[in-house]
Amino acid sequence: MRYPFIDIKRVNAPYAEATGKALLDVAASGWYLRGAQTETFERELCESCSAKHAVAVSNGLDALRLIFRSLLLLGRLKPGDKVIAPANTYIASILPVTEMGLVPLLIEPNPDTMNLNWRLAETAASDEVKALLTVHLYGAPCWDAAVARRLSERGIIIIEDNAQSIGAQAAEPGLNDCTLTGNLGHAAAFSFYPTKNVGAFGDAGAVTTSDTTLAKAVRTLANYGSDTRYHNIYQGYNCRMDELQAAILRVRLADLPQISARRRRNAATYNECLNNASVLKPQIQPGSVWHQYVVRVKNRDSFRHYLADNGIGSDVHYATPPHRQPCYCGILTGEYPITDTLADSVVSLPIASVTPEEIAEICAIINAYVAE
Ligand SMILES: *Cc1c(COP(=O)(O)O)cnc(C)c1O
Repeated sequence: MRYPFIDIKRVNAPYAEATGKALLDVAASGWYLRGAQTETFERELCESCSAKHAVAVSNGLDALRLIFRSLLLLGRLKPGDKVIAPANTYIASILPVTEMGLVPLLIEPNPDTMNLNWRLAETAASDEVKALLTVHLYGAPCWDAAVARRLSERGIIIIEDNAQSIGAQAAEPGLNDCTLTGNLGHAAAFSFYPTKNVGAFGDAGAVTTSDTTLAKAVRTLANYGSDTRYHNIYQGYNCRMDELQAAILRVRLADLPQISARRRRNAATYNECLNNASVLKPQIQPGSVWHQYVVRVKNRDSFRHYLADNGIGSDVHYATPPHRQPCYCGILTGEYPITDTLADSVVSLPIASVTPEEIAEICAIINAYVAE
């Protein structure tokens, strides 16, 4: 491929020297878990999204599991409670909800943004609904401050899946008077999977919150449920982040403003240069950090073949939404036609490791595409 969907080596190259040094330092320190790197990373993550507490954990899915399990243990949620969640999301958003015995109430996206439709969510928020999970999909903040405030006044706990949107900014402040994702709602889950905007050399994640009690429960649960050494108040997990991953992530996190700026510039270049009536461009949302640049086409297979024949890598996020997955057969039984239509038509174009010049070339190729 002349233009790979993502060239992770190219993404990593600018950090090679600093990362190498950080890795050697950790190796030489003889301290590999719950040490200075993790602690400092947590503080730096807090600063980056204005959150009060951050807990570095094993991955993004575990971050969400820890949030929901903590809310159950603290008595803020109970099994059977309904949780509003977007129908159009990655399955990792929904897995922790059902695992904890909570009942997902899936809501269709706004077709323009592909993100949760908050007005529909508010309409669906019956008294049985105790939490709402907003997913800032593709890096675009998914937030409606007015609805969030009304729901929160009714005691509905708002959680963010911030896996794709570190550094994103909503137009209006969240519950914590902050416009940065990761501190809009009550708690947020981050993923540092290698291809996320800030990526580790393996799995890593984090939980942020301004709720001191919740932060303590998450930290305890992630360490066997142990509040002090060999004293276990919960039947916990082992969901810790390695010092090595924390050291790698600190190098990248320091570059977050530039990472977001490059992705914004790349998205703007696409929206400027793409001009083919068969290819629907995404809306430019000012606060987005463009984890994916997602266009929509009618005959996706033929479009992707054309891209591949012309050296352009692409991907699909996601071809099968949670309610269509075999593991949720008979469980997520609703009809979600907007989500289904998106699943059939979305295509992600290269954005992470391409230059604006390359994007202009990619656009020239796409502009010459004739739909079958
Ligand atoms: C990546 C991702 C997750 C899961 O994160 P992992 O670190 O891979 O466990 C959850 N939600 C969304 C929206 C994601 O993109």
